[in-house]
Amino acid sequence: MRKGTGEVVEVFDGRSGGWDAEVVEAGKKKGALRVMAQVRPQRDPPDLWLLFAPIKRARTDFIVEKAAEMGAARICPVQTDFTNSERIRRDRLQAHAVEAAEQCGGTFVPEVAEIEKLVALLDHWPEDRRLMFCDEGLAGAGATLPRDAGPWAVLIGPEGGFSEGERSRLAALPQAHAVSLGPRILRADTAAVAALTLWQTTLGD
Ligand code: SAM
Repeated sequence: MRKGTGEVVEVFDGRSGGWDAEVVEAGKKKGALRVMAQVRPQRDPPDLWLLFAPIKRARTDFIVEKAAEMGAARICPVQTDFTNSERIRRDRLQAHAVEAAEQCGGTFVPEVAEIEKLVALLDHWPEDRRLMFCDEGLAGAGATLPRDAGPWAVLIGPEGGFSEGERSRLAALPQAHAVSLGPRILRADTAAVAALTLWQTTLGD
């Protein structure tokens, strides 16, 4: 940031709001700040998870960045039957989430979870968490989400879509609500942004 000693920056740790801090040391390799006063309260997002199947690296980075900007509280990469890439660098994705929170002036940083198998997650799906399952097969049908302010998750499939087995697991899950994002098949990264927008405009605060 090219700040020198005596200058003030705003800092946050993801849990305690925004704080003014004075630069007391600004070396090439290290610096030091003196945290002074809270200037913004902590603002946590609604209890919304984003579940998505990782795709190419740059597009996965995009999904994490946009999810953090759009107020997802937890970002969960999932392995599905047709997942394109199962290797993720969680630390890298977490760093993207921090940068996105900084960029949009947020005080909350979503946690990026370890990758987990979708079916394993569905086996232990919390009873009180609704799941907005984005299904390109429903093209044209409008979203009919229950106005429930409790915990939610949004699920986006991989480029190859969901397998029949996954579809029947989702159909059997009472907390799952299938929604369409319109009549066109969107790329997974576009679908993630569209789905979070739909959720935020319908149920977000
Ligand atoms: N299997 C599909 C195919 O090849 O025809 C494409 C899957 S799409 C690229 C990736 C994911 O984005 C889907 O699994 C779904 O979750 C979401 N998606 C894309 N378009 C959608 C739409 N119009 N409505 C709902 N979800 C959509």
